[in-house]
Amino acid sequence: MFVLTENNSLANHFLSELRDENTQKDSMRFRRNLERLGEVFAYEISKTLSYQKKDVGTQLGIKQTYHISQEVVLVTILRAGLPLHQGLLNYFDKAENAFIGAYRGKHDEKEAFEIEMDYITSPDIHGKILIISDPMLATGKSIEKAYHAMLRYGIPAKTHIVSAIASQRGVRFIQARLPQCRLWVGDIDTEMNSKSYIVPGLGDAGDLAFGGKV
Ligand code: URA
Repeated sequence: MFVLTENNSLANHFLSELRDENTQKDSMRFRRNLERLGEVFAYEISKTLSYQKKDVGTQLGIKQTYHISQEVVLVTILRAGLPLHQGLLNYFDKAENAFIGAYRGKHDEKEAFEIEMDYITSPDIHGKILIISDPMLATGKSIEKAYHAMLRYGIPAKTHIVSAIASQRGVRFIQARLPQCRLWVGDIDTEMNSKSYIVPGLGDAGDLAFGGKV
């Protein structure tokens, strides 16, 4: 697992602003900070990919350069995942894209819920690098469900899971249920409340990015 805040970097500023309830009032800045984190994750993940040589003609000669030789598919869960996805796409600018519509189904008296998925669109992912992004890794159930839903479109060569903030429980769940996936998180929080929101976390990432819902 890779945790961005294990080393101090600009990513700490982005995460700090994402969490700050005053800065959160600026939804454009909130979206942009998620996008910037997506760019940082893309850069870090790019270090794990395969590259091939390519001779490039400059104005003054030929230079041997290196290009990513693997195909990348980015998938996110609507709607909260869109800014983080956009950040990954800014850097993996040739990536194909998949989208999943998911929501929390009916709650029982203990506030437990199932994740329902009702929309999915994806290219063929067989043999490609799959990067699943979700800003908040809370229970891990929606990411697990998204991963299995994507397998209808092929078997990826490698799957990466990217989250801005994860709960300790969510990290343990993904590591136990999807050991074949590599996890990349910004920061890890210890608690979750009865509604499965990460504490202290940042609140509802979808609402903060796109406004409230009924
Ligand atoms: N989704 C959110 O938006 N926030 C959380 O804390 C957990 C899930």
